[in-house]
Amino acid sequence: MNVLVVNCGSSSIKYSLLRMHNHESGEVLASGLVEKIGNPPSRLKHKAGDKSDSRDVPAPDHRAAFAVMMQALAEGPAAVIAGPAQIQAVGHRVVHGAERFTGSVRVDADVIKALEDFSTLAPLHNPPNLVGIREAMHLMPGATHVAVFDTAFHQTLPPHAYLYALPYDLYAQHRIRRYGFHGTSHRYVTEATAHLLGRPLAETNVITAHLGNGCSMAAVAGGKSVDTSMGMTPLEGLVMGTRSGDVDPGLVLHLIRSLGKTFDQIDGLLNRQSGLLGISGVSNDMREVVDAAAAGNARADLAVEIFCYRIKKYIGAYTAVLGRVDALVFTGGIGENAAGIRERACRGLEGIGYVLDALRNSAAARGPRDVSADGSPHRILVIPTDEEMMIARDTARIAGGG
Ligand code: ADP
Repeated sequence: MNVLVVNCGSSSIKYSLLRMHNHESGEVLASGLVEKIGNPPSRLKHKAGDKSDSRDVPAPDHRAAFAVMMQALAEGPAAVIAGPAQIQAVGHRVVHGAERFTGSVRVDADVIKALEDFSTLAPLHNPPNLVGIREAMHLMPGATHVAVFDTAFHQTLPPHAYLYALPYDLYAQHRIRRYGFHGTSHRYVTEATAHLLGRPLAETNVITAHLGNGCSMAAVAGGKSVDTSMGMTPLEGLVMGTRSGDVDPGLVLHLIRSLGKTFDQIDGLLNRQSGLLGISGVSNDMREVVDAAAAGNARADLAVEIFCYRIKKYIGAYTAVLGRVDALVFTGGIGENAAGIRERACRGLEGIGYVLDALRNSAAARGPRDVSADGSPHRILVIPTDEEMMIARDTARIAGGG
């Protein structure tokens, strides 16, 4: 079964076409993105094996961008299928499934209506996700369309973890609570950890750290998420590229009352000018911040220290939440590649059972691996995430009637 995985944002579409052998395994035939939709020159970057198709394209709107994607898949120099009819199922990444969706679902009119209703909870993400679903359904009416939610994996959080200590009516009437995000990634690495450790998923307790441009951690007990660092929005928790993570909400009041900041200024400040960029003044990109720190930039070094310190605090908190931890897992661009960040986040945690092996941790390796010392009470693992594969698996299962 050919499964197209689509991640539709406000100005870009990322896609992968996978040939699934069954509900578990498959291979990527092609992947790519159309970026700067509606903001010319729009650009296609498409790859299939060692062939590629990258060029400026006309993409004034999402419908045109989907046509560009289909043309790259079916006609261009790196085409892999004869036409849209060869795509049996489409898996859509959807950011917010609120409390309704605890797993992936086949898209129908009812699901689309629910997603429209949740748009107030994720105003930046759900509307473009919906545009993508509509365009893909228009282009591939014969395919099964499946929605896979970033929030679904965290719907197992107990109320004491998902409720804020706010007046209860805010939850009851307005669904203000913690939802958590990056669920597809946390679920993927949790399942991969159970596999690697040879433990049944239902008996696997892990702390997962997804560290990319956005960063979040989760405490997973018996394969189910019981706490996570992102909250009502993806702003809470860890320090990120441009997001602050945890702050005292009282400072927002101070910014308004004493510094006269507007809503838009505070939104920009917390979401786009904070995090690694805000502290270092250098970049939101960890590689550049690490390089600047190594070259002696004190604020870049401080940004790295704050980033790692926040992770360390969450490791401690989630160790307490879980009681028994089988493994701490690092994933995402930073988690998978930045040995120095893993080392700094785990420094001083030997006393609570996290002992890295310096050589294993710094080895230039790829793929799932154990970077802890032989006697470490908890395993410390690096597992490359694969959200596309996870979405394709769910999509193949649902399209296949599973
Ligand atoms: P996204 O969240 O957009 O999927 P990624 O998971 O690809 O992003 O993570 C991007 C982050 O990973 C960037 O901050 C980048 O600098 C960082 N990164 C990638 N490789 C390294 C590396 N070798 N050392 C430090 N940071 C790295």
